[in-house]
Amino acid sequence: MRIDLHTHTSVSDGTDTPAGLVATAAAAGLDVVALTDHDTTAGWAAAAAARPAGLTIVPGMELSCRWFPADEPPVSVHLLAYLFDPLHPAFAAERVRLREERLSRGERIVTALAADGYPVAWDDVVARSEGGVVGRPHVARALVEAGVVDSVDHAFATLLHHRSPYHVSKADTDVLDGIRLVRAAGGVPVFAHGRATSRGRVVGDDAIAAMTDAGLLGLEVDHPDHTPDQRAYLRALATGLGLLQTGSSDYHGTNKRTPIAACTTDPDQYEALLAAGTGSAVLTD
Ligand code: AMP
Ligand code: FE
Ligand code: FE
Ligand code: ZN
Repeated sequence: MRIDLHTHTSVSDGTDTPAGLVATAAAAGLDVVALTDHDTTAGWAAAAAARPAGLTIVPGMELSCRWFPADEPPVSVHLLAYLFDPLHPAFAAERVRLREERLSRGERIVTALAADGYPVAWDDVVARSEGGVVGRPHVARALVEAGVVDSVDHAFATLLHHRSPYHVSKADTDVLDGIRLVRAAGGVPVFAHGRATSRGRVVGDDAIAAMTDAGLLGLEVDHPDHTPDQRAYLRALATGLGLLQTGSSDYHGTNKRTPIAACTTDPDQYEALLAAGTGSAVLTD
């Protein structure tokens, strides 16, 4: 069994449509793919409708969160959530808040860029999100197509990184609240790419212990942004805390270079994850 538990589509910041994503997954020889768009379940129905025979889809999401250390600024953390009830009221309300936060923050970024003469327009950036959630990658693609930069990576490296004068942070969910919401909705919370220092500051073991106390059930160990040492570190931590271990590509289509199935999850870990999720069911033959 080949299992990839972290992918994005055009309803957040991937470039494959949900139907395209499941076709890509099947063509790559995957048996199981999880759909984990940022802060939205908008792709679930279209992916289900397009599911090729033989492919199992795990409904999921990647929730934008923050950890608040005692004496430092908050750290951005991403929380994967699987098999939760999409209609759970408090969790659904939090997703609405996050999407609105993304809209106001995206507009501030674009307004600041436009004020300095970059040829980007907010309407165009919103249109690129196709009714899903707006993120910096949509701004990046607009900058590429305007000829300002030659790639999405270049847009992030020059104008959209978190130390850029154009950066605007968003009020993401306190990760401990996020974990409790996912569990309340019957879902399985897994800490995404938790050691990937290439993405910015990472949290310490104290945070992972507190997250575990709040109900965290797994750590994403095998991820393209983790070095072998970082994977070994997380593997040991997961073993010590009794957490599940997952592996995933974090595929974003052509917005990133990583192919689907670049990292995969062990079937035993997948079975344990399925057993822990009670809010929604996998889509399967
Ligand atoms: P946002 O959620 O709007 O803050 O945007 C963050 C998203 O941008 C991440 O989920 C990645 O998909 C993407 N991203 C971050 N850094 C880069 C990069 N250097 N190149 C391409 N995409 C990136
Ligand atoms: Fe992303
Ligand atoms: Fe992420
Ligand atoms: Zn992701």
